[in-house]
Amino acid sequence: MAKLGLRARLFLSHLIVMIVGLSTLLTIGKFYSPWLFVLHLEKLQERGLDVRYLRRQLVEGFDSAWSRGAFWSVIVGGTTAGGLSYLVSKRIVEPLIQMERITRRFASGNLEERVPRNEIPELNRLAESFNRMAADLKGVEQRRRDLVGDLTHELRTPLTVLEGYLEGLADGTIESSSDIYQRLAKETTRLNRLVNDLQELSKAEAGYLPIHAKPLNLRPLMAALVRRFSDQLLEGGTVLRLDCSTNLPIAIADPERVEQILINLIGNALRYTPDGTVTLRAWHQSDIIWVAVVDTGQGISAEDLPHVFERFWRSDRSRDRSSGGTGIGLAISRRLVELQKGTITAESELGKGSTFRFSLPIARKI
Ligand code: ADP
Repeated sequence: MAKLGLRARLFLSHLIVMIVGLSTLLTIGKFYSPWLFVLHLEKLQERGLDVRYLRRQLVEGFDSAWSRGAFWSVIVGGTTAGGLSYLVSKRIVEPLIQMERITRRFASGNLEERVPRNEIPELNRLAESFNRMAADLKGVEQRRRDLVGDLTHELRTPLTVLEGYLEGLADGTIESSSDIYQRLAKETTRLNRLVNDLQELSKAEAGYLPIHAKPLNLRPLMAALVRRFSDQLLEGGTVLRLDCSTNLPIAIADPERVEQILINLIGNALRYTPDGTVTLRAWHQSDIIWVAVVDTGQGISAEDLPHVFERFWRSDRSRDRSSGGTGIGLAISRRLVELQKGTITAESELGKGSTFRFSLPIARKI
């Protein structure tokens, strides 16, 4: 037997209920009503009304009246109930068919498709959750397209430079020198870093970066970083300082990820502060700890500031490309902070310096 659709099933189930109802009514009516009628006649007889001669006609008349009544009840009732059942099944099935059409169009790439509201609460909830999923998928698709677009753009420049130099070297228009080879090596290093950063970013954005949050004393971690970076700083240039009270509460965070964020923020601060001070600061405020990297460097203009956490964004693309930045570091940092239930913000004034700070939850006292 061919599989029945939902509408046919609903209609059939209504029909079965109706048939059962009507046949019960008819069967009981058919046997019970004449018996009651005869009883009624006998009572009349007892009261002195002589119905003996009319009894047969009366019973037959009652029978035919009952049958006619029953016949019309079945016709009118059956048609009305059938019609109503058809309408009800249609009201339930039609939005489902519409939803199926919409999901199919969505699956074939029409990401703007949304399911309209429905007055049946269950169907409406289904429509709402589909729409939520559709919006999420659209966001993911948009981010994927943006990423591919950004990526192509970022890869093209070093590749063009490499191609230009290599062609020049091959046809002899560029003379080989250690300087040329250094430039080539620098571009390949950049490409390498770009690929590594991208891998990290895609993991962070997809939420695949494992976060092993545990009670963490931030001060020793920050002090170690300050020592590590200070060793690399040239004498007389930028100074790196630590400003953190010894009784900073314990945070809940992943030490490796916090270090990764701080390395990125300190690296940036030192890169954009050729001569000045970079301060690593931490303090607590109600149930969170703030960690900040404050520099007195070149700063970021107010119009650029909202973009710093966007991936591949650099305030001056050509300048920063030469300085080796990929514009991904802050995007990764932001994601890492969010994965540890914190927020990251940037404040800056052009020519005066920048402050990047992020929050971490405090471990609850036992
Ligand atoms: P990059 O690898 O290029 O440093 P980031 O995502 O870490 O990438 O930074 C994005 C951009 O934000 C940088 O290219 C720079 O223009 C700006 N920026 C970040 N930190 C600072 C800072 N401390 N001072 C000035 N500009 C900064």
